[in-house]
Amino acid sequence: MRAVVFEEFGGSVDVRSVADPTPAPDGVVVEVHATGLCHSDWHAWAGHDGGVALPHVPGHELVGPVAAVGADVRRWKVGDRVTTPFVCGCGRCQWCRDGQAQVCPDQTQPGFTHWGSFAEYVALRAADTNLVAVPEVVGDAAAAALGCRFATAYRALNARAAVRSGEWVTIVGVGGVGLSAVQVAVAAGAKVVAVDRNPAALALARSLGAEHTVLADGHDVAAEVHDLTGGGSHVAVDAVGTAVTCADAIHCLRRRGRHVQVGLLPGVGGHPAVPMDRVIAWEIDVLGSHGMASVDYPGMLRLVEAGTLRPQALVERVVGLAEGARLLPLVDTAAPVGVTVIDPRRS
Ligand SMILES: [Zn+2]
Ligand SMILES: [Zn+2]
Repeated sequence: MRAVVFEEFGGSVDVRSVADPTPAPDGVVVEVHATGLCHSDWHAWAGHDGGVALPHVPGHELVGPVAAVGADVRRWKVGDRVTTPFVCGCGRCQWCRDGQAQVCPDQTQPGFTHWGSFAEYVALRAADTNLVAVPEVVGDAAAAALGCRFATAYRALNARAAVRSGEWVTIVGVGGVGLSAVQVAVAAGAKVVAVDRNPAALALARSLGAEHTVLADGHDVAAEVHDLTGGGSHVAVDAVGTAVTCADAIHCLRRRGRHVQVGLLPGVGGHPAVPMDRVIAWEIDVLGSHGMASVDYPGMLRLVEAGTLRPQALVERVVGLAEGARLLPLVDTAAPVGVTVIDPRRS
């Protein structure tokens, strides 16, 4: 099969012919019809993820039909159209049995712990635990955004922050996951403040229902959010993952607010300083959120089918493998506001 491959971290990225994958006994092989290009893929290429072995094929936001099934798989057959969370649980441990596969100690992640979906085919483990059927009404490009960005935003705001109608939600960083969070918060009846350095991203956030936008141009973002929200946000999401955006998000909160950390703070940045003085004095809840298990997808998919959540609104362009390979090193510096989707069937 054709795949996007890199041999060294930060090095060249090429499309080449590699061996077709075969399914593990509990796994499947999926024919990739669409796969999102995500900032996490850039982190894997840059060498920020300790689990990546070289040579490597990135990609973790995928959709397509099942092409081959392992002998022990019970729930899936060839031809089923599926996606998967980027965190795949083992299916056997206490966390997986409790429906919390997103924190499975034996998790696998396509595009990180093994070869991913920037290829014509991808192998996925523990299929009975991790695959999600995709409704016909959800197109390929839209579905590619579900397994990482939308699922992450959905779980962060609903299962972790327990956002309620009428609350203020401040989202720091409105790239793919941040714009997903804008939609999820608006769908929950919350009032959204979007914060970003990029005016075009803020314009898109406003078009998706954000009530206010704040340009992070070096001024006191938290003070502006406190003014706009009459005393601070009830919920804040750091969808970027730097020491500055994490602290900004926490300082945007009102007393007893809830902070959700979604943006990855990769090893290269170390363990960032978190304003724990504010966390203590104002009784701020600091919550981590790490993807979403497949068992939690039906609620999100119902909102997508109803048109309340519109992942397709985030898709900016669909490209082939070669263009995807060219774009991967540029994600950190030159990515467009919206989501780039790779269709490996294109030349
Ligand atoms: Zn992703
Ligand atoms: Zn597990």
